[in-house]
Amino acid sequence: MKTKKKKIQFSFWYLLFALWALLLINSYFMAPREVKITYSQFKELLAQERVKEVIIDKEKIKGKALISDERKEQAFVTIRVEDPDLVKELHQHEVTFSGRRENIFLKNLFSWIIPMLLFVGIWVFLMRRMGKGPEFMSVGRSKAKIYAEDQLDVTFDDVADLYEAKEEIQEIVEFLKNPDKFTHLGGKLPKGALLVGPPGCGKTLLAKAVAGEAKVPFFSISGSEFVEMFVGVGASRVRDLFARALEKAPCIIFIDELDALGKARGINPIGGHDEREQTLNQLLVEMDGFDTKKGVILMAATNRPEILDAALLRAGRFDRHILVDRPDIKGREAILMVHAKGVKLADDVDFKALAGMTPGFAGADLANIVNEAALLAARRVKEVVGMAEMEEAIERIIAGPEKKTRVINKQERQIVAYHEVGHALVALSVPTADPVQKISIIPRGIAALGYTLQRPTEDRYLMTKSELIDKLTLLLGGRVAEELAFNEVSTGAQNDLVKATDIARSMVKEYGMSEKLGLVAFERERQSLYLQLPQSTSSKEYSEETSREIDSEISRIIEEAHRRAKEILTEKRGLLDKVANILLEKEVIEGEEFKRLVSETA
Ligand code: ADP
Ligand code: ZN
Repeated sequence: MKTKKKKIQFSFWYLLFALWALLLINSYFMAPREVKITYSQFKELLAQERVKEVIIDKEKIKGKALISDERKEQAFVTIRVEDPDLVKELHQHEVTFSGRRENIFLKNLFSWIIPMLLFVGIWVFLMRRMGKGPEFMSVGRSKAKIYAEDQLDVTFDDVADLYEAKEEIQEIVEFLKNPDKFTHLGGKLPKGALLVGPPGCGKTLLAKAVAGEAKVPFFSISGSEFVEMFVGVGASRVRDLFARALEKAPCIIFIDELDALGKARGINPIGGHDEREQTLNQLLVEMDGFDTKKGVILMAATNRPEILDAALLRAGRFDRHILVDRPDIKGREAILMVHAKGVKLADDVDFKALAGMTPGFAGADLANIVNEAALLAARRVKEVVGMAEMEEAIERIIAGPEKKTRVINKQERQIVAYHEVGHALVALSVPTADPVQKISIIPRGIAALGYTLQRPTEDRYLMTKSELIDKLTLLLGGRVAEELAFNEVSTGAQNDLVKATDIARSMVKEYGMSEKLGLVAFERERQSLYLQLPQSTSSKEYSEETSREIDSEISRIIEEAHRRAKEILTEKRGLLDKVANILLEKEVIEGEEFKRLVSETA
């Protein structure tokens, strides 16, 4: 964006320059270099025989005369007045005269043809500058790159790991291979599959593999490409893209960075319908309008599904979500192996060990390692790529300027493992918690170093007091596990504490769940007019003393939950150690396995 702005400014100076040049030309050619005189003055000069020659056209009389100086002829011009005797008089004074039609062409050329050409030229120039050169005459024509089917030789074999995603997507491949048969058998397909996951984990790769497997064309465009400077262009791009895809059906349309286009509408309190919104609306219209039977499948990728407009996720649109997450240790090994396929390797290369050194790396980082190692080997004039190069490549990527992934050291990993297992074990022990689906120490996002995923068994709208207390206990489980294992706590538990405090505060102030303070809501829900603006002006409606009591109630509730979590985990100390160690080794423990481990030990 920055460079674009600069370019526009740059051309702006060109524009100014061109205008200035134009003015100069104009004044040179058009400027009256003649002296303007009145008709009576002209007649007087004529009478005094000072007029030498005259050209008469429709409106003006031009000529040469001795006006101020007796010896030097000067050009003059005067407005022509109806004067039937003029010719006679000119004869009388022996002035040579001629009539003339104005040179309309020349006049037009300078007064508007040239300026117009100049402006068109500047406009074209500006468009080019903005990088839309070839598109100038067809603004709105979709820029989506079309990969013809023979160009796409990506198959599922090129996609390592991601077994679940591949399985889920297999259906789409079957459909694209033979749309008629599929629908004939009554198969019903989602219109859009949304690939969700952090950058570089293979979303684009997977979409291409679907096209490659099914041998269908692949149209891809990035969400940010849709959003253009010119209002209406984005929308017409969408229309165009779908029209072109329909011509080539069966095929895949892939929209990368869907979030750039599909951000929730209405967050911006100032703007009404902006460009992005129009484009999004058009996308929704197209999605509703096209028939999957024709064989166009829409796939999109995002790493921020939470900010997408709800309308995009509704049934019949992107209703199928496929998780493309960072690889675990086994996945990393597999990805490294896929990328090392074409590389000559030394015998000492140990993929398992390499995978162990790269927690948190995405597929793209791993591909990069192999690449970097091969380059290093070439620089050292080696025949094969050895373990030393691989290790050095890892170091380079970790330390490099493009370090996107967060690599955690051994001790940190240990703390995170205990923390997460702490959450999981508490979840198992409190009566109302949702079952644990997955425990992971593969870092996700920036804040969370690990996570424990629980799958709710049903949608809940109301929560009882005991459920809230269970939830508090669960949140504190991570911190308590750290306390037990290391006798100290890390900053990693901070987010849990914030959440816990919020829950406890709501219990006291909003839900009237504190026995000491009773059934009083101290806080009324005050929604800001504009969505999601945090409320900063919370006026107090109670005394200082009540305020102190509220605070002490909040900390009492939290302390109680803390004590409970500590009880649970002290009792399960052996299990905590065991599961944490397994987690350290495997990085991910699925819910089933977790249950098995627990029942084995019990
Ligand atoms: P995303 O679209 O999720 O940002 P990409 O699909 O563009 O990521 O992945 C970038 C590159 O990383 C791919 O071209 C591929 O070389 C490598 N890569 C990522 N995930 C995998 C995987 N599971 N198997 C093999 N290579 C992968
Ligand atoms: Zn936690």
